[in-house]
Amino acid sequence: MTDSYRLVIGGDLADAASGETFQSIDPSTGEAFADVAKAGAEDVQWAVEAARRAFDEGPWPRMKGRERAAALLKVADLVKQNAGELAELEAHDAGHTIRMAKNADVGMVISTFRAFAELAGREDDEEALPRNPGSFNYLRREPIGVCAAITPWNFPIQMAAWKIAPAIATGNAVVLKPASYTPLTSLELGRLCLEAGLPEGVVQVLPGPGAAAGESLVESPLVDKVAFTGSTEVGRRIMQLASGTIKKCTLELGGKSPSIVLDDVDMDYAVDGVLWGVFFHNGQVCTAGTRAFVARAIYEDFVAELVKRAEESTVGPAMDPASDLGPIVAKTQLETVERYVDIGQQEGAKLLTGGERAAVDGHGGGFYHQPTVFAADNSMKIAQEEIFGPVLAVIPFEDEDEAVRLANDSIYGLGGAVWSGSLPRAVKVAEQLRTGTVWINDYHMINPRYPFGGYKQSGIGREHGKIGFDEYREIKHIHVDLGGQVRSRHPWWDISVPKREPRVPGPETPGSKPAG
Ligand code: NDP
Repeated sequence: MTDSYRLVIGGDLADAASGETFQSIDPSTGEAFADVAKAGAEDVQWAVEAARRAFDEGPWPRMKGRERAAALLKVADLVKQNAGELAELEAHDAGHTIRMAKNADVGMVISTFRAFAELAGREDDEEALPRNPGSFNYLRREPIGVCAAITPWNFPIQMAAWKIAPAIATGNAVVLKPASYTPLTSLELGRLCLEAGLPEGVVQVLPGPGAAAGESLVESPLVDKVAFTGSTEVGRRIMQLASGTIKKCTLELGGKSPSIVLDDVDMDYAVDGVLWGVFFHNGQVCTAGTRAFVARAIYEDFVAELVKRAEESTVGPAMDPASDLGPIVAKTQLETVERYVDIGQQEGAKLLTGGERAAVDGHGGGFYHQPTVFAADNSMKIAQEEIFGPVLAVIPFEDEDEAVRLANDSIYGLGGAVWSGSLPRAVKVAEQLRTGTVWINDYHMINPRYPFGGYKQSGIGREHGKIGFDEYREIKHIHVDLGGQVRSRHPWWDISVPKREPRVPGPETPGSKPAG
């Protein structure tokens, strides 16, 4: 007997217009455990029209920031009250170990809603601009309108929160399409937004195939902005589709992040840190430290210890609190990992450990893979392409210049880490990396108050913090003529209006001119 999940649409729960459903598979067992309504183009149209009404006519964008903040805090409270159920759902739907789902996922959702509530509560939507003689100028930050959010399968409820919270905190309406492998916690979060009293149409969640529901959403002329997290390949397609109506896009895409280990490192600490950087959630993490660059002087000892500890980690079912690594999200993704292991061996990388499916007692149908370590070269495919699985390429370097050069030799630029006993050395290396985040002697520390996003083909724009908040706002400049004294002497069509000296000495501001 499987549970059933319906779309969150138009302020209610509903079946898909077609009546179609699809199954969600538990990757720990390989068995279906939920039926999910499958949204298509008709549902997308219904949802964007409801979102449009919520934005154009409804109270949400017109509320004060502090009122919206109160609603976001209510959502955070409801997530907290339902933390246990949400964590278990994430474990079954996405294969997150229950430890990670409880401690990382649900906690991050709560702190994300709280962080954006805090920003909304600041009500910083108006700001005076530098003075200009004869006029008063100010800017307003206004919501963009209807936002389409499309999320990947690796961190379903976190990604949903990363999109919904800033979109609604700034007064937008949002239609979220979660990944087809992992729709359940996003639907539950949408349902909790309704329970928190958000007006009809402000938050809607529509699981459905990317090529149908996703594309209809991105192409809809009623949508003003697209916020996407996923692969670089689909990000490229989203940009193309969004260009038809010049939609604003923020894209959080793939990564191949470096973990640089300098020769003065605390070996014990850094071995664990590098393993955590790559094998956290089986490497199905956009910032996973999948390339470890290790100083030649310590390479042999470091790698021997790394391999030993990788072999000691426990692969097991998501609901088992003893599991360090749970299952891979789906059979096709497990096959992708296997394909890259084969590619690594064909291109001459040396397999140091792993490389096989992992056998887990009583869970023969699950999608498990051993943590895998290759001694590799940075030019190999396994060091250049995103695998999104538990595969580490270890690469030696001679000096810090070479480490920086190799680390930056990638089309991606999302995250990375430097491990060193000397902070000045680590900072010097960190500042030369072409990535959106660098951790020093740490990994995967993401805070909804600090910006997150990628250089190069890892994306456009930033999520989180004030910068992420502003990605969901338009900027309007308002010019107020103060009495028309200048105009009465110099008609509008006379573009040679002389610059007037400011009456009060102050910062120099150029005189306003007709736009050209
Ligand atoms: P995909 O890019 O395949 O899919 C992401 C989302 O896009 C899914 O909801 C998918 O729907 C949808 N989608 C697929 N095709 C289209 C389309 N043509 N138009 C509109 N939407 C579409 O990524 P994965 O889900 O496989 O996630 C893994 C990827 O996400 C990795 O490459 C990883 O690096 C990246 N990622 C990046 C992060 C970052 O912050 N930079 C964070 C997390 C992941 P459906 O599921 O139905 O196919």
